[in-house]
Amino acid sequence: MRLEDPIETLAGIGPKRAALLARLEVRTVRDLLLHVPRAYQDRRRMTPVAEAQPGAEVTIAAEVVSARHVRLRGRLSMAVLRVRDATGEMNVTFFGRGFLARAFSPGTRLVLSGRVETWQGPALKNPEYEALSGDEEDLLHTGRIVPVYRLTEDVTQRTLRRWVATALREADGCVEETLPELLRAAHGLPRAEAAVRDVHFPESFEAAEAARARFVYEELLAMQAGILMERAARAAEGRAAHVKWDGRDGPCLSRLRASLPFALTPAQARAVKDLLDDMAAPRPMLRLLQGDVGCGKTVVALHAVAAAADGGYQSALMAPTEVLAEQHYFHLRRALEPLGLRVGLLTGSMKGAARVRKEVAAGVIDVIVGTHALMQEKTTFHRLGLAIIDEQHRFGVLQRARLIEKGDEPDVLHMTATPIPRTLALTVYGGMDITVIDEMPPGRRPVKTRRVPPGKIPELHAYIARQAAAGRQTYIICPLVDESDQRELRGAIRHFEELSTGPFAGLRTDLLHGRLDASEKETVLRRFQNAETDVLFSTTVIEVGIDVANATTMVIEDAPQFGLTQLHQLRGRVGRGPEQSHCFLIGAPTTEDGRRRLETLCATNDGFAIAEEDLKLRGPGEFHGVRQAGLSDLRVADLVRDARLLDRARRDAQALLERDPRLEDPEHRALAAAARRFLAVRG
Ligand code: ADP
Ligand code: MG
Repeated sequence: MRLEDPIETLAGIGPKRAALLARLEVRTVRDLLLHVPRAYQDRRRMTPVAEAQPGAEVTIAAEVVSARHVRLRGRLSMAVLRVRDATGEMNVTFFGRGFLARAFSPGTRLVLSGRVETWQGPALKNPEYEALSGDEEDLLHTGRIVPVYRLTEDVTQRTLRRWVATALREADGCVEETLPELLRAAHGLPRAEAAVRDVHFPESFEAAEAARARFVYEELLAMQAGILMERAARAAEGRAAHVKWDGRDGPCLSRLRASLPFALTPAQARAVKDLLDDMAAPRPMLRLLQGDVGCGKTVVALHAVAAAADGGYQSALMAPTEVLAEQHYFHLRRALEPLGLRVGLLTGSMKGAARVRKEVAAGVIDVIVGTHALMQEKTTFHRLGLAIIDEQHRFGVLQRARLIEKGDEPDVLHMTATPIPRTLALTVYGGMDITVIDEMPPGRRPVKTRRVPPGKIPELHAYIARQAAAGRQTYIICPLVDESDQRELRGAIRHFEELSTGPFAGLRTDLLHGRLDASEKETVLRRFQNAETDVLFSTTVIEVGIDVANATTMVIEDAPQFGLTQLHQLRGRVGRGPEQSHCFLIGAPTTEDGRRRLETLCATNDGFAIAEEDLKLRGPGEFHGVRQAGLSDLRVADLVRDARLLDRARRDAQALLERDPRLEDPEHRALAAAARRFLAVRG
């Protein structure tokens, strides 16, 4: 047999069972062998029956003294056994499984595992069981370290253990070594043949852990090799550089540098250099610019825009919402028009879109900022050389591709303020180059965050009023689970009206939500930006990008219902000026995770630390891009638990590919196949 054979080749597995296993993503013999346990139970130590105390988890070896089949209501029945060993006797009941009374006739030797309860004296109720045939090697469910698997409906631990044991028996001798020997030996990992046995039915916990580590490493190595090969393939697609680079800035870029009212932070300067180097290279840039809200990504991107203009190319900046696009437009115009560049705006709802499109197509507009409208078919460019995609995770892969296709192999820059843990970034964005801005412009004071108990809310309102009197502004986030839910929206509006006519009666208040049309939103935001509003009530539409340095107070109502990353994102709306800013969290968490989220937020302002914590709390599946990247298809590895192995795998894959770029060495063939499988899953 071969490991790629369908699971039905195994004795005892027909189409029905194969369909059940498919729900666990198990389709081939290999899949089943790599369905590694999620945990193990120690059932090695036999407890003498006389010592089996109620409440304890025990494994006993005993002989059946008597077995009764007891009818219950309807067709229900139970088996009641009396068992004994050298030290004493006890009861064992199997509810709903009367047939076991016949199977376990007096004299049968059993190993039983379970929690001791009471039923006419100490008893085991529905324990795991196994009849001893004399050949104790065959124990699967008791009397050993027992695997505990991830299950699906209609498949029990017992069945799965039996199927895995069958697979191990039938695949004996077919499990080839797939890790290059050098790497296996260097990391002291067990051989495939031994590991596949030990991961399911280990003799010791150490053996189980070593076996698991082997498969985790192997999987991560294949994944990283796949990503790196894909990336090498992209690098090999040459094209002429968009920017001639002789060490001197072109006219636009030098005017931009001269016009900035501040010095770039070292992190920003490094980022600018990364971008310009990319643009001057003989292949398209594909880079992710990652940095916490307010770290100054936009300024960095401006340098790329100026460099593209110096090369004679247009730039496009695509943002996920109209509000954001308008804000970018405003900033870009202010920064770029003095350099002699024409900046345009294109959104779905605006008047005059046709004229703007004409100007983009004619090359009259040098820099176009917009929403999804940019990638519509009727938008064409004169000479698109740089595509910038803001908050890229809000766009699908196809949407991004549609914009990029409008240029002639343009340079592509993704920007995101959503920190993603490094372990995930290596994988989700493994195919991109990544620049992280890990430093804030000088003079920023970290936002102080604290929880506000219900009794202190009047005090908070008074504080907000004092801030307003001092000329500083406040955001109040009213969470809507669903922006399109009329009832919820009415609730938020009522809340806004109550506060506006109550504690904030003397203040200028406003409300922003997703159901306002674009021009209404714009009016609300403009008023806030111009400091004509003291308190802005908003749903989470405000989440990304709004930049008002004079806003120093953020109130998040019902905070426990938000994810950690989103809370951090919302908080990023304040702390953007020189004044000390505060973030107040209202609402009591009802879960342990909720409590930890709020605690973490109060304790740190570091977006990456917060992302790491979020990863621990929610798992990788919740991060943007993880599903598309095929990460949720990892079988064995757990990116939280196995971060260290991921690092090693990444480095090893790099070194391996340097020696054998296409993994053609016979010893690398299995790895190459696994890397291709990974890429295929990713699509
Ligand atoms: P991001 O896009 O990363 O959220 P922005 O580029 O919008 O950040 O910058 C946030 C604010 O900080 C802007 O008002 C910008 O002018 C300002 N800023 C950016 N870089 C610097 C710097 N090096 N020194 C001072 N202020 C800066
Ligand atoms: Mg920004």
